Amino acid sequence: DFGEMRLNSSGVNLHIHSEIEPFMNQVKHFLDNQWHAKPIIDGQEYTSNEEQVICPYDHSHTVGTVHKATEEQALKALSVAHDNFIAWDVTPVQQRSALLDKVADALEAHKHELIALCSRDGGKSLQDGIDEVREAIDFCRYYAYNARNQFGHEIHLPGPTGESNDMYLQGRGVFACISPWNFPLAIFIGQVAAALVAGNTVIAKPADQTTLVAYRAVQIMHEAGIPTSVLQFVPIRGSVLGKVILSDNRVAGVAFTGSTSTAHTINRTLAQRDGMLSPLIAETGGQNAMIVDSSALPEQVVEDVIHSAFTSAGQRCSALRVLYLQEDIADKIIEVLSGAMQELRLGNPTDLSTDVGPVIDMAAREELQGHIDELKAAGKFIAETPMPEGLEGHGSFLSPVAFEIDHINDLDQEWFGPIVHIVRYKAKDLDKVIDQINDYGFGLTLGVHSRNESTAMYIDKRARVGNVYINRNMIGATVGVQPFGGQGLSGTGPKAGGPFYLYRFATEHTRTNNT
Ligand code: GLU
Repeated sequence: DFGEMRLNSSGVNLHIHSEIEPFMNQVKHFLDNQWHAKPIIDGQEYTSNEEQVICPYDHSHTVGTVHKATEEQALKALSVAHDNFIAWDVTPVQQRSALLDKVADALEAHKHELIALCSRDGGKSLQDGIDEVREAIDFCRYYAYNARNQFGHEIHLPGPTGESNDMYLQGRGVFACISPWNFPLAIFIGQVAAALVAGNTVIAKPADQTTLVAYRAVQIMHEAGIPTSVLQFVPIRGSVLGKVILSDNRVAGVAFTGSTSTAHTINRTLAQRDGMLSPLIAETGGQNAMIVDSSALPEQVVEDVIHSAFTSAGQRCSALRVLYLQEDIADKIIEVLSGAMQELRLGNPTDLSTDVGPVIDMAAREELQGHIDELKAAGKFIAETPMPEGLEGHGSFLSPVAFEIDHINDLDQEWFGPIVHIVRYKAKDLDKVIDQINDYGFGLTLGVHSRNESTAMYIDKRARVGNVYINRNMIGATVGVQPFGGQGLSGTGPKAGGPFYLYRFATEHTRTNNT
């Protein structure tokens, strides 16, 4: 029922009362836009070599153009961010929070365009686009609210010797925010909003694949009142950012969402500097499992598996990759799952009847296809969603597919696409299953399906992961409701959309006054 669409699931205040038809028409109105992106430094736009952006689901369509920042421009952005830090940090937090609320309003005002752009630039389905805008808005309002409470006052401490002692939070300095293409709006804005409201200035580096979305987000933030002196937009290759910006002693912190190997590279770059000891806030991948015991309801399991593994074409860090089925129930679930996968619709993501859109680009598609070919050759194939006639070749489409493997360790990496791997286990081996998942080293999400409460709690207590979901799907964490982030190979631990997130962007400052 699209009659009333909720753009804000944490219940803060946003409802769109509209019929689906006019709403979608407003989105579609923007689909043929031509967008562009350029570096924005101190409010100035710069040009360099132009790159064309191709639509992931229609390779014959050019979405717009991107101008990458030069090294010189990136360094200028760093100087501007550095020079304006103190003035921004001493700006009352009420003012900074109020600006984030204005950004939230502006995002809402531009929702149709942003949803269209998420599809055109990032290959997102309309529902995913709606969820992106909602999450971006939620991040702004939630961090604004937390900042008021956490940064808005000094804590008075005892003064046993007659001195007065006070403590408060300060920003750290220049934060580099490096965001992924799979959440080009929500995670991009979430990182930037958190860093800014905590008093930092920001170098925002978008993903190469979705620079158009990020550029529009920065424009909207500036128009809503975020000073151009504190938010610099630097579209640049990751390796160049590392060399020019992250190696610079003026960078006081990095917020990064992306691959584990890039997080390691960033860590090394920061560690090699002689200057500031700057923290890395990293949210990386997952080899996320779901454990299904024989008490689970097969139909519900299958619905949640489909949702967890194939929504967003499986391109979520939270997505299900390894489905553990207790052997007594495995055949039944595999049968229902195979049937359900035949019914999924692969296609144009701006079509409301489409379940699964393209993967981000052909390079990603080829890599995933290599893994699929290997498993097929090894006789592990279980089921695949049919590719509609004529679709292949139009864009980077890949059919959702299920395989049966022997062990999670058969997977040598996280496969970031619509692929689910099934492993059977015996009831007596539950502890081994939990150990295997923990020992693999990632620790982001874990799904559990069991009608036995004590089994679910047993697993929950032992799982070394950031987010456990019991008897439901395991994606779509909601801001302020399911703070999101992993441990181990999956990240440094901070939870985006959680009550402690902003502390990671701040330093603690104590003042002792003997006046
Ligand atoms: N927070 C998202 C979810 O719960 C995933 C974020 C990501 O893929 O980086 O689905």
